[in-house]
Amino acid sequence: MTSVTVQGVAKSFGGRQVLEGIDLEVPQGNLTAVLGPSGCGKTTLLRIIAGFVHPDAGVVRLGGLPVVGAGHRTLPPQRRRVGYVPQEGALFPHLDVRANITFGLPRGLRRGPRLADMLDLVELPRGVASRYPHELSGGQQQRVALARALAPDPAVVLLDEPFSSLDASLREGTGRAVARALHAAGATAILVTHDQGEALSLADQVAVMRAGRLAQVAAPPELYRSPADTEVATFVGRAAVLPGHVTDGFAQCALGEVVVGSSDVRGDALVVVRPEQITMSSPRDGLVEARVADVTFYGHDTAVHLEVLPSGPAVVARIFGVQVPARGAVVSLEVSGQVTAFGLPPRPLD
Ligand code: ATP
Repeated sequence: MTSVTVQGVAKSFGGRQVLEGIDLEVPQGNLTAVLGPSGCGKTTLLRIIAGFVHPDAGVVRLGGLPVVGAGHRTLPPQRRRVGYVPQEGALFPHLDVRANITFGLPRGLRRGPRLADMLDLVELPRGVASRYPHELSGGQQQRVALARALAPDPAVVLLDEPFSSLDASLREGTGRAVARALHAAGATAILVTHDQGEALSLADQVAVMRAGRLAQVAAPPELYRSPADTEVATFVGRAAVLPGHVTDGFAQCALGEVVVGSSDVRGDALVVVRPEQITMSSPRDGLVEARVADVTFYGHDTAVHLEVLPSGPAVVARIFGVQVPARGAVVSLEVSGQVTAFGLPPRPLD
């Protein structure tokens, strides 16, 4: 396995810029998620790395060696040693699992231990080897697709929304099994997804893509705790973005005085508060009060929609346990932990 380096990659289709100035480093053995809304250019980036699409500018290196870019000879897809796992329909319907997995292997290796190794790696029983794709569940099919991509021992594995056709219950388990298999194989992998939960829970690092540019590349906890801007903050998890004023590491905002994590922000700012940071209690003097507008019970936790009194804003608190306040109740709010604040430019003088 090998590293992937993307430098200054740009691509337009019919005069419309789809990717611009993409820089991305995926170290050897790392699982990187490219996370972004539909149409932001994720698949195009994956296809450029695979060699199916030629970039207008920039360089792609696999293991330090340029595979495309000005002044470099372009390596065709079949010589890049890249395994590709597409969204769905990846398997040949007329071939059994054995033939699907060993499809890209030299003839001599098709009957060897490679098939059993691959089934073990993706945590499928060896007995499925003789089954046809229509005899497997969607999650099993995606594991076979991964086994087929890994069988020829690729340098890099690219996965394009591989779980999007699975229902929620299969998605999580299949995602974790696939991530385990990639790590066990020591694979360098790029996973394209629009699902922030999938990106945060499976990847070693997440590259947030927005309108053809990378807004931030960071490990999941850092991305969640220290988003680059308010858009990343609200795209990666829920957050209330509140106007405030920062002095000496504390922000005054609609939720009272809160502790700011970043020390260099001063003056007018936007303050990002996560739902799990908001705690509620019976009304108490000196604390901000809010009315419960709605309650959404999820089982493992509950989202409480609140309207800060007397006139807003609306915020959401996420609480655990079954003791939830009733709709219409008035509660006091506090914010625990540190919040992120983004400084605003000074207001022009009147
Ligand atoms: P999704 O999550 O919906 O698959 P995406 O983030 O992967 O979206 P891309 O598939 O990379 O986005 O597409 C980005 C933009 O480029 C879209 O507007 C798409 O229509 C356009 N596009 C992609 N491939 C081509 C092509 N071969 N010719 C013309 N336009 C294209």
